[in-house]
Amino acid sequence: MKTFVFLRIMNIRIGHGYDVHRLAETNEKGEKLPLRLCGVTIPHSKGCVAHSDGDAAIHALCDALLGAAALGDIGLHFPDTAAEFRGIDSVELLRRTVKLLRAQGWTVGNVDCTVALQTPKIRPYIDDMRRELATALGIDVGAVSVKATTTERLGFVGREEGVEAHAAVLIHERLC
Ligand code: MG
Repeated sequence: MKTFVFLRIMNIRIGHGYDVHRLAETNEKGEKLPLRLCGVTIPHSKGCVAHSDGDAAIHALCDALLGAAALGDIGLHFPDTAAEFRGIDSVELLRRTVKLLRAQGWTVGNVDCTVALQTPKIRPYIDDMRRELATALGIDVGAVSVKATTTERLGFVGREEGVEAHAAVLIHERLC
């Protein structure tokens, strides 16, 4: 009965985010691109082509959070035409997104991210990823899920041309 009353008075929202980045060995200057996912650098021959550090998983997560709060999307708040965001660590974008939500009275409940990448295997990095995200989100690591999948060599992910990420989140009104 207590749970029922709690849910009735609590404003809860869900959000979903999606992002894709192209994979390449070097940028336009011929510099090696890093592969950054969920705030962790993964050793690989290719990295994401992007204005920022190309962390598709964090971009999907930012969009999910902004979507849950109906605050627009990542391109609205952190445009890829702005010099200040060139090469930026996407963990900083996540921190700023959480600040935007907090300013509107929202708290992050839990997040669930899925990364689709053919290679390399990211299972060894998942615990580090969860810790990075939890710190930036200001929530317990137990409320942060990161999952990985391949696409069975199908599509652009399967051809190792890109990385795809999805995120689902729950946010709620700050209680105090
Ligand atoms: Mg992106």
